[in-house]
Amino acid sequence: MNQILVVEDEESICGILKYQLERSNYQVAIAVDGEQAIAMMKQSPYDLVLLDLMLPYKDGFEVCREVRQFSMVPIIMLTARDTEVDKVLGLELGADDYVTKPFSARELLARIKANLRRQSVATEDTDTTKKEKLQFGELMIDIKLMQVLRNNVEILVTHREFELLLYLAKHPGVVFSREQLLQDVWGYDYLGDERTVDVTVRRLREKIERDPGNPDYILTRRGAGYYFRRD
Ligand code: CA
Repeated sequence: MNQILVVEDEESICGILKYQLERSNYQVAIAVDGEQAIAMMKQSPYDLVLLDLMLPYKDGFEVCREVRQFSMVPIIMLTARDTEVDKVLGLELGADDYVTKPFSARELLARIKANLRRQSVATEDTDTTKKEKLQFGELMIDIKLMQVLRNNVEILVTHREFELLLYLAKHPGVVFSREQLLQDVWGYDYLGDERTVDVTVRRLREKIERDPGNPDYILTRRGAGYYFRRD
C-alpha cells in the first residue's frame, strides 16, 4: 500500500483529503506545518507528498527546497491560485507536479497515480526495455536504480526529471512535441500548460549538460519540440 504524506494546515482540507485517499487505498499521514513534515520525512520514507503552498512558519516553497536536499520523493504542490502556479514553475524547486485548488477528487487521484507510476516509462515496450543501463557518451542512465550518472558521478534528479530523460533517451532522434510529452511522461490529460515541459527540460539540462545553453543530450527542434541526441 502506498503511503502518502499530506502537508496542510487547514483541518477541513486534511479531513477531506484523508477520506478520499484512504477510500482509494492509500495510507495517509498528516503534517500540519513544514517543520513537522520534514521531521516525518526524515524519520520514515513516503511514496508521495502532497504539499500545500500556504503553511504557517515555513511555506511550501521552503519545505520543498529542504526536502530536495535529502529526498527525491514525488512532490505534488497544492496551490490556491493560478498566479502561484507561475511561481511553482518559475522557482524550479524540484516539485514534480501541482494542482490548483479547488480540485476534484478525480483530478487529484489521477495526478497521484501518474506520479506514483515510477516504473511505467522504464517498462515501456521498446527494444531497449531489457537493458538496465543506457550509456550516451559521459552520461549513463541506470533504469533499475533510477539513477543518472555523468562520468560515474551521480546527478540528483527528481522522479519527473528522470522519467522525462529516460523517455527521450529511449527514442533517440525522435522529436516529441510538448503536448506529446505531457501526455506520455506526465501520463494523464494534463490540465496545466506546456511550460511545465520547458521548465523540466531546462532543469534537466542544468543538471546533465556541460553547457546547458548549448546542450549535447536534450536538443530543441524549433517550433516542434525536443529530442534526444542520436549517436
Ligand atoms: Ca494551507
